[in-house]
Order: sequence, then C-alpha cells, then structure tokens
Amino acid sequence: MHPQNIVILGTGGTIAGRAASASDNIGYTAAQVGVEELLAAIPALAQAGTVLTEQVAQVDSKDMTFAVWAKLAARVSHYLAQPDIQGIVITHGTDTLEETAFFLQALLAPAKPVVLTCAMRPATALVPDGPQNLLDAVAVARHAGAHGVVAVCAGVIHGAADVQKVHTYKLDPFSSGDAGPIGYVEEGQLRLLRSWPQAEAGRAQAAAKSIAGLAGAVPRVEIIMNHAGAGGAIVQALQARGVQGLVVAGTGNGSLHHELQAALLKAQADGVKVIRASRCAAGRVLPTPADTIPDSEGLSPVKARVSLILQLLA
Ligand code: ASP
Repeated sequence: MHPQNIVILGTGGTIAGRAASASDNIGYTAAQVGVEELLAAIPALAQAGTVLTEQVAQVDSKDMTFAVWAKLAARVSHYLAQPDIQGIVITHGTDTLEETAFFLQALLAPAKPVVLTCAMRPATALVPDGPQNLLDAVAVARHAGAHGVVAVCAGVIHGAADVQKVHTYKLDPFSSGDAGPIGYVEEGQLRLLRSWPQAEAGRAQAAAKSIAGLAGAVPRVEIIMNHAGAGGAIVQALQARGVQGLVVAGTGNGSLHHELQAALLKAQADGVKVIRASRCAAGRVLPTPADTIPDSEGLSPVKARVSLILQLLA
C-alpha cells in the first residue's frame, strides 16, 4: 500500500438511506446501504488512489449509542496507527454527527484527519447529496497538513468543537457558529480560513488502550432544560434513578428558574456533577463571580454531556 491510503468507515445515516420513491427526500429508512455500495456510486473516488472500507455500524444516528462510539473509536485508533493510512472518513447521520465528532476529537485528538460526512437526502433520491459530500470528505482526508476531527457537508469544513446541526431540512444544515468554518471544499481543492482542530501526539494510541473498556460502565449523564415554568421535579426524579451527571441547558447566559436552580444545587451537594450550558444556538455562557454551578466552557449542551461522560470515565 502506498502512503495515500484512505479508509472510509460506514456507520449508517441518511447518506446510506433508502426511500420507496426517488422523489421522497424525507420518507426513507436510514442506514440501509453498505459503505462499499456508497463508494461504488462514485467512480471518481476509485480513480483517486486506494480507498479501503469497513462497515463499523449501520444505524440511524438518532439511535447512536456509547457502544457504537467505543467501537468506532477503537477502529479509528487502529487505522490512525497504520503508517500507510493518510486519513479516515466516517459516513454518519446528521442528527448526532456533532456529538460523535466531539467525542472522537476529545478522546483521540488525532494527528491525522478524521473526517465525518453525511447527507440530508437518502442515497435513492433524485438528486442525492451524499456522493458529493463523500468525495469532498476524501479530498479533505487527503489534504497534506490536515489533522483532527472535522465534519464536511455541502462543501463546508467544520471543526469538531464548533459544528452544530442548525437546520432540519436544508442540504447545508450545519453551522460553526461564531467560530466560522475551517474552510471550504471547491472542486476538490481546499480553501482554508483557520487552523485545524488541535492534535496531541500519542493521545490516540494511549486512548486506544482504554477504549475497549469504555462501553462497560458508561456513567449516566442527562440533559435537562430551563424554560418558563421549569421546576425541580425532573432533577429529583433523575437523582432517584442514580444519575451521576447533569447538564442543564439554561436560558440565555445559562440562567435558571430559581426552583430548578435550587434542585440542581441540592444535587450538586449530593455529589452529582452539574454543568450549566445554554439552550441558545450561538454564543457561550460567560462566567460571573456569583456562579454556583460551573459553566460548560463554551460547549453546547450535547457536547458538554459528552465531555462530562469522558470526565467521569477518566
Ligand atoms: N436520522 C438521520 C440520521 O441522523 C438523519 C440524517 O442522517 O440526516 O442518521
């Protein structure tokens, strides 16, 4: 094998979805088409050097589990350690793509590119978006100097820490918020605007050793939301079920209804790890000296949850 090898790991999603009719973009079943078949639909990829494939999972990403993450992280670590592999592409559903991307970056901080890609239309659509996204993702994985976990969709490259699904239907459903995208893929060429996610030498190898045991005892971390009329009952119910961590999606700058706040402070005093994020789509919770519950340091609620799980596992 020559040094330009790319691995595509299939996990499912709409990119691998099938509908009964080509004109149906939403009434489909996700995770039906194998990664080999996806590849076969893009002749340009076969011409662009060696591409290996592996079907790691076949799920609608709304059903993503920690067990799939652990298996995926193990396979990513395995391929990252091969000197003849330049980069990895992962086909994934859009629904939880940002969580998987954040999980892999936080765990592995890879010194090679790990590129998640997806589609908003099933593979059977009249005009599917998956093939172009996959082609673009491979271009990113082949880019000299690329590293870290990124997402590629609709010609936009997003960093794992910033990417967020913000639209239910558009072919370009992701945003990097205030940070902006890392760059764009245009006709196979990259136009870069800022740096790649941080790489940490040796982290992936060290993490690989602990990955196998990760799925065994995943700490229970739940997300709750502040809203008009919020109270403390949900916190008490979760505590009764043995919750170990709570992320609260606060309003605005992480503000909380006083009854919810009182319940969270009680949970915190009882030993539950509590993190305060914001339900706002953009911006970050700015800390103040009066804070009694730590903020999520810029992470969205779903990413703060992943971070807290990893923290509790460590
Ligand atoms: N429900 C699908 C998934 O996340 C949606 C998509 O891929 O766009 O797998």
